Amino acid sequence: MRVVVTGGAGFVGSHLCEALLGRGDDVVCVDNLSTGSAENIAALRDQRGFTFVHADVSTGLEVPGRVDAVAHLASPASPADYQRLPLQTLAVGSRGTEHALDLARRHEARFVLASTSEVYGDPRIHPQPEEYWGHVNPVGPRSVYDEAKRYAEAVTAAYARHAGTNAGIVRIFNTYGPRLRPHDGRVVSSFIRQALAGEPLTLFGDGQQTRSFCFVDDLVRGIVAMLDSREPGPVNLGNPDERTVAELAGLVLHITGSSSSVRNLPLPTDDPVRRCPVIDRALERLAWKPETGLEEGLRATVSWFRSRPAQPLAAVGP
Ligand code: NAD
Repeated sequence: MRVVVTGGAGFVGSHLCEALLGRGDDVVCVDNLSTGSAENIAALRDQRGFTFVHADVSTGLEVPGRVDAVAHLASPASPADYQRLPLQTLAVGSRGTEHALDLARRHEARFVLASTSEVYGDPRIHPQPEEYWGHVNPVGPRSVYDEAKRYAEAVTAAYARHAGTNAGIVRIFNTYGPRLRPHDGRVVSSFIRQALAGEPLTLFGDGQQTRSFCFVDDLVRGIVAMLDSREPGPVNLGNPDERTVAELAGLVLHITGSSSSVRNLPLPTDDPVRRCPVIDRALERLAWKPETGLEEGLRATVSWFRSRPAQPLAAVGP
């Protein structure tokens, strides 16, 4: 296949490009490097079948040559990023998604939208099945992301329904792994960075809010299975192993061997209290389930953080 990956220089996108190249697909990575980096795809740039296009998909998306599939991942994804780039987040979720869908429609290609568990908002149903419509504040601080993704889902469903596009939606839950940016404000990257630097771990609220953390290799397997299928979704992709954020902090301290303290800070507005996917649909329709345990995935992530040359972190921990 020749697959266009928008947002391919980001955290998830770069792993997806790598997995597709690894099985022999050609990959056209389209990215404006707003939250991704050239470093993420440095190892791919010399590989046969890999092309990088530096472009903003919100302004248009033209790819010369054959296109068999489009994986649309372009979007700021961490709260710190989308609050710094609110209008760009809305633009890429709306116009960017339309451009990516239009590319797929013109080429009669498979299209997969990377949506998010954030479409469930602060859920009133727990754990969250795909049938749940969500509980989202349309004017809250997270709405630029939540509502952009909800629109992205609506326009994807409309292309499938009215234009006959072979389109599908995956709803991604918290994912972590190598190439998370240390300062992206996400809980796993923040805890690991702080633990390795010997700084206090910043815990919002009492830490009893839950998240379910999926290792990036597992997620990418799910996205590839979705690309290979004709499944419209939406399909939740996440790890149902629900943990409190306080538990995650303890695990990071244990794995890094850090003696950092934990500092409690007020819970941000509209921060969801519980988040955990029902993944029966992914199992039934894509034969997918996560395979990497949290401790194993965290160890791989910590060793990647330690290996980064810019960080004087190696001296901390066992
Ligand atoms: P990321 O910020 O690392 O990657 C996003 C990529 O999109 C970056 O490389 C960025 O430069 C690029 N991009 C942003 N706007 C663009 C534009 N207008 N034109 C071209 N490129 C643009 O984030 P990520 O964690 O890799 O997330 C990838 C996708 O998965 C996003 O759509 C996100 O919403 C979704 N997702 C991720 C998670 C997670 O836990 N990582 C959870 C739910 C959903």
